[in-house]
Amino acid sequence: MQRLNDILDRRWLSNFGHYVQEFEKKIAEVAGTKHAIACSNGTVALEIASRALELEGEVIVPAFTFIATAHALQWQEIKPVFADVRAFDHNLDPDQIERHITPKTTGILGVHLWGQACDTEAIEAIAKKRNLKVMYDGSHAFGCDAAHGPIGGQGRATVFSFHATKFINAGEGGAVVTNDDELAAKMRLMKNFGFRTYDEVVHVGTNGKMDEFSAAMGLTNLESIDEIVAVNRRNYETYKKELAGIPGIRLMDYRPRGKFNYQYVIAEMDKSCAISRDSLIKVLWAENFLVRKYFWPGCHKMEPYKSLFPNAYLTLPMTEEVGAKILVLPTGQTVDEGVIRKAAEIIRTAVENGQEIEQEIKKRNL
Ligand SMILES: *Cc1c(COP(=O)(O)O)cnc(C)c1O
Repeated sequence: MQRLNDILDRRWLSNFGHYVQEFEKKIAEVAGTKHAIACSNGTVALEIASRALELEGEVIVPAFTFIATAHALQWQEIKPVFADVRAFDHNLDPDQIERHITPKTTGILGVHLWGQACDTEAIEAIAKKRNLKVMYDGSHAFGCDAAHGPIGGQGRATVFSFHATKFINAGEGGAVVTNDDELAAKMRLMKNFGFRTYDEVVHVGTNGKMDEFSAAMGLTNLESIDEIVAVNRRNYETYKKELAGIPGIRLMDYRPRGKFNYQYVIAEMDKSCAISRDSLIKVLWAENFLVRKYFWPGCHKMEPYKSLFPNAYLTLPMTEEVGAKILVLPTGQTVDEGVIRKAAEIIRTAVENGQEIEQEIKKRNL
């Protein structure tokens, strides 16, 4: 409220205001980069970064990601070429990249899914060999580390989202971080219609500016970053303990070393589980426990990609498998150990009575 009142007192609501500048400084600190360019949301930040890098033709992206990763390219008439992911962390599989490279390929847009860095070293090596540009969608990964340092220093640029559902939220918001001075200057122009001075436009641009209210929200949440991580981590560990031993269900592990924000708690269900993933979701929703499928049925099965690339699924078996077997469990500051214990009890009961529940769902057409 202090920040909001201060914004109103200053009568400076957007366009490089006090709070946006402060937020950018803090974002760069957390990301470990020289520059942070705050944007109105993560999607616009992806569009600006990919455009500033002059990506064109075809760009390789993982098929298992939020649809905005692909849309940001398609919106600019760059063809997203979907590559498969790997089983253990659902990130882009480096071994699947090269089969998709054609003479039209100009870049790789990697995603750090669930806050775990994708294999940046392998991706960089392929990019170097094939002369491609690399950027990352780090929307899930603010505050996380890659193998060799903060996640922001990887590739030419990395994008974060500060949407209401993300680890640090600004209501709506996003940013691009980079160590490249020239690229940063270009992106600053691009997010403000290409204006260099108040009456001089030197570049095609868009309106990608973050407003002061969003920056105030982001800054206020950033003050609690350690606390948010601690609660997320506690919830993750409580889920792990409470779900242990339920046959056919396991929590996805975070790597033993590294810094994570623990924003996502992902359960994987075996085919052998007594209840199907979709039936378990029905049971949990009936109990008002709002687990979610994620990225189902996969970017390649959503329009316009489904019609544009009807055969893409042939090279994406792991994307299809992962999309069909995961549950994203509720977490965050309002979820406590009691809630998780109760959820685990429901899940255990549902699995124990899986066959009966499946029959009942079918019979009653639920
Ligand atoms: C949230 C998200 C985006 C889009 O960010 P917005 O701020 O909602 O526009 C892009 N990619 C991924 C992986 C995301 O999770």
